[in-house]
Amino acid sequence: MTSCRGCGHAAVQTVLSLGEQPLANALLREDQLDGAEQRYPLELAFCVACALAQITVSVPPEQLFTDYPYFSSYADAVTSNAETLVRRVMGLRRLGADSLVMEVASNDGYLLKHYVEAGIPVLGIDPARNVAADAEAAGVPTLTAFFGHDVAEQLRHEGRRADVLHANNVLAHVPDVNGVISGISRVLADDGVAIVETPYVRDLVDKLEFDTIYHEHLFYYSLTSFRSLLDRHGLEVVDVERIPIHGGSLRVYAAPSGTVAAAPAVDDLLAEERELGMGQITYFEGFAGRVKDLSRELVDMLEALVADGARVAAYGAAAKGTVLLNAAGVDGRSIEFVADRNPHKQGLYMPGVHVPVLGPEAITDRMPDYLLLLAWNFAEEVMAQQSEYAARGGRFIVPVPEPTIVRGTP
Ligand code: ZN
Repeated sequence: MTSCRGCGHAAVQTVLSLGEQPLANALLREDQLDGAEQRYPLELAFCVACALAQITVSVPPEQLFTDYPYFSSYADAVTSNAETLVRRVMGLRRLGADSLVMEVASNDGYLLKHYVEAGIPVLGIDPARNVAADAEAAGVPTLTAFFGHDVAEQLRHEGRRADVLHANNVLAHVPDVNGVISGISRVLADDGVAIVETPYVRDLVDKLEFDTIYHEHLFYYSLTSFRSLLDRHGLEVVDVERIPIHGGSLRVYAAPSGTVAAAPAVDDLLAEERELGMGQITYFEGFAGRVKDLSRELVDMLEALVADGARVAAYGAAAKGTVLLNAAGVDGRSIEFVADRNPHKQGLYMPGVHVPVLGPEAITDRMPDYLLLLAWNFAEEVMAQQSEYAARGGRFIVPVPEPTIVRGTP
């Protein structure tokens, strides 16, 4: 029995099991390939009390985030989302040299740098030493720490409170989510706004994004469950949008309870969720079966292609690629290599399946017949980048919602 990490309810119920999996971002060096690789059960569970979908096993965050090999600036969709968001916030709020914009999990400063360019003071907070150093180099002051209640109290004590606080794609990842929300509540100025982006569990279910389920991704929010969490810490949802980033996310605007009238979008989305039954475990029925079918179809397709003498490589050494390969059992027998344009990943090996990660130039150098798009949420972007590969006859396999072979855009 596992209790809910959100509300503390005694028992959450498992809705999908993906077996024992390695840590999705724990890429291996060549000398680690023969060593024992740590694996943990990967299960999605649901809390009937607060409607929060979550992972049952948590790995110590120190193992997950220190030297976390993720730099936002390598993903065009993430950086353009950041720029659009900053422009929008600057339109909504009067910010100036006296304001302070904070970001929790500020990564390499991909978002805050846009405020810096506009002359607005910022503070990034990120636990990963290497990315914080990159942020500092880009002119974004960054506190190397796990944001939570204590860090927030310290900042508040120093008189540093946020007029705007961003938390993008982080609330899904923090084990002590109550500590983070309580921290946001403490550090936010009385008339401040917190803008939180997190993957939407409805997109996960509708679009079969099972490969976004991994150990670092502990929570899968609906507006219903998120509102319940905020409410326990004196924060209120004042506006909400659905945005396409990370396969489909919620962008939630939160303010201290009772300070701002909520936009109609909030009640509208809550009503939609009620209608869909997102507060009930039955909402997840059928999802597990569809995941199993997809895995089998993908393996059958790849085995048939390889049996015909075709050569297959993959694109995208991100966490979701690890999950997809390991959940389906796709390894070096069908995939020659995984291409990724993050130089920090090149030369390493995919966790569990041990397929080598190479730079994107390997695609046109080695010309595999098929390129399996593990980063299928960026499929259009990757296919556009790989126009030379497509022009030379290379084909793409988009794995989700069902494995499909596509010719690239000419
Ligand atoms: Zn709960």
